[in-house]
Amino acid sequence: MSFPKFSIIAPVYNEEQTLPVLYPRIKEVMEQTGEDWELVLINDGSADRSSEIMRELAAQDPRVRPVIFARNFGHQIAVTAGLDFSRGEAVVIIDADLQDPPEVILQMIEKWREGYEVVYAVRAEREGETWFKLFTASLFYRLIRKITDVNIPMDTGDFRLLDRKVVQVMNQMRERHRFLRGMSSWVGFNQIGVNYRRAARYAGETKYPLKKMLKLTWDAITGFSYFPLQLATYTGFFAAGLSIFAIPLVAYLRLTGSQFFFGQATTLIAVLFLGGVQLISLGILGEYIGRLYDQAKGRPLYITREAPDMREVNIENVP
Ligand code: UDP
Ligand code: MG
Repeated sequence: MSFPKFSIIAPVYNEEQTLPVLYPRIKEVMEQTGEDWELVLINDGSADRSSEIMRELAAQDPRVRPVIFARNFGHQIAVTAGLDFSRGEAVVIIDADLQDPPEVILQMIEKWREGYEVVYAVRAEREGETWFKLFTASLFYRLIRKITDVNIPMDTGDFRLLDRKVVQVMNQMRERHRFLRGMSSWVGFNQIGVNYRRAARYAGETKYPLKKMLKLTWDAITGFSYFPLQLATYTGFFAAGLSIFAIPLVAYLRLTGSQFFFGQATTLIAVLFLGGVQLISLGILGEYIGRLYDQAKGRPLYITREAPDMREVNIENVP
């Protein structure tokens, strides 16, 4: 069986309004490449008509391959399933809401043909987003870059092209709490960015509320660094160092009759502060242990209700 040259994968969560527009836009762009392509749509447990629309599109055009999840597993897992079912020599991850203009794919393919294995899209401008989203997004990238040890390019999302070699490595990384941008940067290879203008959502509203953003940030930090664990060590050394100086000072003051450190308030504050630091450290430890536990259970990353026939899956993808 011959596999298509390019795979486009788009995660779909309640996108009934955007799907009928996404397909023709992708088709128009991909026809310009003069190569075979496929569009893998992953329905991440949508409650609307997304599944029906996906099936209709697949019936019209066999290049559309629907993967339908049994429930909502989250955007990063949906994209992972897309990578598992993709068969192309180059794979493009794109949002289904048309915030990532499909036309940029052509620029990515050009870079891929020059020999780059990861081509990520850099958001040079964004339209139609609130200042709050822009502010939190910028904070997110800065924080991740400071704390983690992978060099994640600034202002990039999951919109990117990955060479088959990269997809194969990423498919072997079965971590449950996934941060795909970090993973695709961690693998190395030749990477380059292309600039684009991030459009406003075509229809509907964001499925990434603050809660999900925070979870992604936390997954990114815990997935790529021990820094939060080390914080306990640092504060421990700081508090111990402080007390080494404070003990002789307080003893001296007491002996010379000073009333400076008298009263319960000083003790209470110190106890509360250290109690707080200890509980936070325990909590952070708990976060890492919880992730270890999730990983140890070894459950599948996702469950599909409907997926392409296994005989039509690139067998090298299956971990
Ligand atoms: N998405 C998903 N599962 C989710 C949330 C989002 O598959 O639990 C999809 C969504 O349909 C879209 C993409 O992920 O194609 C990006 O989501 P969204 O546009 O809501 O995020 P934003 O662009 O606002 O950050
Ligand atoms: Mg969006």
